[in-house]
Amino acid sequence: MKQSVKLIAGNWKMNGVAANLAEVEILKRELESGVDCRVALCPPATLVGRLAAVAGSKIEVGGQDCRAETSGAFTGDISAAMLRDAGATLVILGHSERRQGHGETDALVAAKAEAALEAGLSPIICVGETLQEREAGRAVEVVRRQVVHSLPLALTGRDFAVAYEPVWAIGTGLTPTLEQIEEVHRAVRSAMIERLGLAAAHPPILYGGSVKPDNARDILAVPEVGGALVGGASLKAADFLGIIQAA
Ligand code: PGA
Repeated sequence: MKQSVKLIAGNWKMNGVAANLAEVEILKRELESGVDCRVALCPPATLVGRLAAVAGSKIEVGGQDCRAETSGAFTGDISAAMLRDAGATLVILGHSERRQGHGETDALVAAKAEAALEAGLSPIICVGETLQEREAGRAVEVVRRQVVHSLPLALTGRDFAVAYEPVWAIGTGLTPTLEQIEEVHRAVRSAMIERLGLAAAHPPILYGGSVKPDNARDILAVPEVGGALVGGASLKAADFLGIIQAA
């Protein structure tokens, strides 16, 4: 992923049925006239194949999680190769809703990232502090630790992104100040380089957490912000386009 071109990725979470693909058709039409950034959508697994079939060349498709194992007796789970087979090229890993709701550790996230690379997917690895950690003055320390332990060495020289998503900013309408975003993004970059060497100077670091059309321009202008991971505002083409146009 080139640092100069921003990546705007939408995370639909557990929202969306086939009818929502109409929003993708609108988005696709609007992007046909040209776009200066990379655009990706990560729908629920049930829609990955169908979205990939209609997405066209301007919208990349991603999953929201995958298992670290390649196959086997894991009822309800899905492998990286299955996502790739369905047409995905990306996968979000270690989202705080998986770290908190499914007990995912840094080590598990790293194993999933290796599996994703193996299957030909580019991982978007999420990190971020809780409100309690932020209030205790530990945001940078927590995020640095997550980066160092969640990024497998196999990422060296490969296509991937890190997303900084403060847990308290997700779905709340709250965002850190631009100075706080810059401080953490710089810390993420230095932790990436500490872990993977100078090859990690280029993969984009996305900001996520209550990104909306009206705050996207300021956030995307912060040094080291290489794009955005967008939840709620990615569900409607008009909102998502507002963010894409800010990039
Ligand atoms: P939000 O979610 O934009 O709805 O805050 C972001 C995310 O969880 O990726």
